Amino acid sequence: MSHALSAFESKLVHAGIAKDVHGSVVPPIYQTSTFAFESAQQGADRFAGKADGFIYTRLGNPTIRALEDCVAALEQGAGGIATASGMGAVSTAYLAMLRSGDHVVSTASVYGPSRTLMERHLSRFGVASTYVDTSDLDAVRGAMRAETRMVYIETPSNPMMQITDIPAIAELAHARGAVLVVDSTFASPYLQQPLLLGADVVLHSVTKFINGHADIVGGILVGRDQETTARLRQTMTLLGCNMDPHQAFMVHRGVKTLALRIERAQRNAVEIARWLEARPDIAWVRYIGLPSHPQYELAKRQMRGPGSMISFEMRGGFEAGKSLMNSVKLAALAVSLGGVETLIEHPASMTHSGVPQAERAEAGISDGLVRYSVGIEDVRDLIADLQQAFDGDRGHALGTDFGADFGSGNLAHPTVAT
Ligand SMILES: *Cc1c(COP(=O)(O)O)cnc(C)c1O
Repeated sequence: MSHALSAFESKLVHAGIAKDVHGSVVPPIYQTSTFAFESAQQGADRFAGKADGFIYTRLGNPTIRALEDCVAALEQGAGGIATASGMGAVSTAYLAMLRSGDHVVSTASVYGPSRTLMERHLSRFGVASTYVDTSDLDAVRGAMRAETRMVYIETPSNPMMQITDIPAIAELAHARGAVLVVDSTFASPYLQQPLLLGADVVLHSVTKFINGHADIVGGILVGRDQETTARLRQTMTLLGCNMDPHQAFMVHRGVKTLALRIERAQRNAVEIARWLEARPDIAWVRYIGLPSHPQYELAKRQMRGPGSMISFEMRGGFEAGKSLMNSVKLAALAVSLGGVETLIEHPASMTHSGVPQAERAEAGISDGLVRYSVGIEDVRDLIADLQQAFDGDRGHALGTDFGADFGSGNLAHPTVAT
């Protein structure tokens, strides 16, 4: 059925879902570790890859396959491989595609554990790596060596939302015989399809936008062609970082509303980013949907929309950031992103509080930096929450009548109330 679907939103709802004997509308949870063969010959044929069918859940399972086929259709790749976590997908990509003596060029602000795994662990197996600002093509070119076999990028990056030019990097990597792997978690398949832009492998932490409900940890890889996909699958099954059927069921339920969730959160984010940009207590706002973003034009070329992640700098520095954390009432103080609920994070006092200030600054994490993952709540409530947090008693209490400040005509200009 899925091959007949062309529009992204239709794929979200229908791709990967096959008819079963009972006409179940939703793929059931095949909570089984193993699958019985009808005969010795059938078992032999399945092991030999001559017959379709499942053998053992680490190798594949119908509930997991339904999700994998759905995301592969969204990314327009050859096949998906679901993993226990996003890091399971990262580990699989590294171990499937690299060998001793290889060199990797990677985005400097890549997800911390992806870098730690590469620098502390892959290095023990003879894989070298260099970290550069991959939004700078010359820096990538300069970092390439004869032994570079992989370019590993994250775009948009965290927390500065830097955009790496996927087609340009793909061309550069391929010209040197390297593969391009894209961690597209911050975009989701709705906003960006790296395989169509030249990447060989795209991966996601489905924990974030794809599942979208902050109730599951998981990951997925999609390969550009059959050969790459088969290699990734074999490595994943040997590593044993498979997703489980219940997890896959939950993620598959979550992904169906991906477009709706992102459209709504993105609409909220555009409004909040403009509101923040006009506040005197904010030094700067970094949001892909603002013309002030340094790669606004590039983002428009390779992304369908700007998404819902905003970073901003409090003029009051560390104390102002910390105080904001203690004053918000609607946004939850939590790491992670991409869920229906709004989350706020102050790296200097939270995730990176153990890192010395000089090192934090080197990583682009200033003392007043706040990361805001916009959810699907009513934008007026989100703005009121920030406003009361910034202004204290001068702000609005949640749950009050917003009518006076947020009449319908004022929605596009909510700063009038400050
Ligand atoms: C969260 C995240 C990961 C890791 O995913 P887990 O599901 O936590 O293992 C990898 N890359 C990016 C960009 C992430 O945000």
